[in-house]
Amino acid sequence: MSSTPLRAAILIVSTTAAKDPSADASESVLRNVFDSEEGKWQVVKTAIVPDVTTQIQRQLTSWSDGPEKVNLIVTTGGTGFAQGDDTPEAVAAVLHRPAPGLVHAMLSSSLAVTPYVSEALALIEEHTPRPDVVVTKVGVGLVGSVLAEDVIARENVPAFRASIVDGYAVVVPSDGNMKGIYPVTAVSHAAPGEEKPLKEGEIARITTGAPLPIGATSVIMVEDTVLKSMTDDGTEEEEVEILAEGVKEGENIREVGSDIKQGAKILSKGEKVSGVGGELGLLAAVGVAEVKTYRRPIVGVLSTGDEIVEHDRPGDLRLGEVRDTNRITLMSAVRQWGFEAIDLGIARDKPGTLEQTLRDGLRRVDMIITTGGVSMGELDLLKPTIERALGGTIHFGRVNMKPGKPTTFATVPVKTNSGERIVKPIFSLPGNPASALVTFHLFVLPSLHHLSGESPAGVPSVPVTLSHDFPLDKGRPEYHRACISVGHDGRLSASSTGGQRSSKVGSLKTANALLCMPKGEGSMKKGNTVQALLIAPIQPS
Ligand code: AMP
Ligand code: MG
Repeated sequence: MSSTPLRAAILIVSTTAAKDPSADASESVLRNVFDSEEGKWQVVKTAIVPDVTTQIQRQLTSWSDGPEKVNLIVTTGGTGFAQGDDTPEAVAAVLHRPAPGLVHAMLSSSLAVTPYVSEALALIEEHTPRPDVVVTKVGVGLVGSVLAEDVIARENVPAFRASIVDGYAVVVPSDGNMKGIYPVTAVSHAAPGEEKPLKEGEIARITTGAPLPIGATSVIMVEDTVLKSMTDDGTEEEEVEILAEGVKEGENIREVGSDIKQGAKILSKGEKVSGVGGELGLLAAVGVAEVKTYRRPIVGVLSTGDEIVEHDRPGDLRLGEVRDTNRITLMSAVRQWGFEAIDLGIARDKPGTLEQTLRDGLRRVDMIITTGGVSMGELDLLKPTIERALGGTIHFGRVNMKPGKPTTFATVPVKTNSGERIVKPIFSLPGNPASALVTFHLFVLPSLHHLSGESPAGVPSVPVTLSHDFPLDKGRPEYHRACISVGHDGRLSASSTGGQRSSKVGSLKTANALLCMPKGEGSMKKGNTVQALLIAPIQPS
């Protein structure tokens, strides 16, 4: 651009940065914004002042009216609700002419960058901490854990040559002809015993799973034999006739390591140990007593709001009181998905209380879920508390979706007992019960999966056919609570659970899926196919 750049000034309002300018990170961020408008702006002034009204105003007037006046002043800091946050008032007092239209333009362009669900999920993946690795004993307590290492078979299975059937161990002659009567020279049971080599022309009684006598090359099943005589005392078989023809070497034998070879990889890093037994069985069979797993995160659940009372408080509700629905439903959902949930109670809408509750909670858990206190228009306490009091970072503060628009995702720095600096996620979900449960499944669960090493993250999704018309929202993509069932033709069909108002927790009763409906006019017609996020198993119809 050929014209002279406009002159800009940056005023940082922060008591901390005024004492220690290195604590300020906003100047460079703002400079980058100006620089990105190539040649349009020149940042000619910067200053840091403490949260003191007179100092803010002195700087503003000197840059506006003084000999070195500029075209635009940008202030940063001091805009929250904490005591001492006075920038908006200080600015308003020196303004000759307020320009609400500019504020409106700023707000609406910021609303336009409200992330979509997919962008929000990308931010969650980027900012959720990776899992810790722990050593866990192999036992039923391992169920639900994700392996943090490939597991190698320590031993062969079977560890010895074993019979697959009840019958007689034999040494097959070279022509394979075993027909004839043979003396029974030994008995081999499934329990370990002494070894006696078997010779051609002799046979040994053997039970299923028992080790083969040394020298035996095959086992004839008892059905292909006839007992000829017993010993004099009548306790043992003496002679047995074999009827089988064409016997091959190795018949009815499980060779050493034929099920699992020593040294083979039996389970892979990232696999989850299921409760139906397959993975535990493998580990047990090959003698693996301990494995490395990702530590299962512990989740704290906190309700917020002056109007919220315990769900089981006896007596009638006073005007305005609301029974705490979210804490019990979210704790149960957390547990249903295999994670430990801790009850952090109800925090009142006071900055100090909320801060203390969050601090205490962060010491005990790996992630906090809060509900309430994020909707627009109310005293929006959570975001300022997370950012200012806890020094956290808000990665998104709303999402372009219905329900659940005010969903907030943040991480806060925490020092562990060993002095290590880590971050822990906080999800601040909307207060309306249906919104809280929908956003739990959409956002919190994927984060829990990243935190526990589970993949794929989040609930599974399947295509389903609509069994009736579904209304669409004009402005936002909607997650419609629905019940999916298997139709007579084997296809999955979806019906709505009814009224979708975000306060209607009943819309989640019997729901096993959230239908991903695009925004649009009118309705999506019966017979159309949409993706469904499965939050519970599908029942056969
Ligand atoms: P808020 O975001 O705090 O304004 O909450 C939005 C709505 O959800 C209000 O009607 C609250 O009363 C309601 N709400 C908030 N928390 C809960 C809760 N734990 N259980 C039931 N309703 C709640
Ligand atoms: Mg509230």
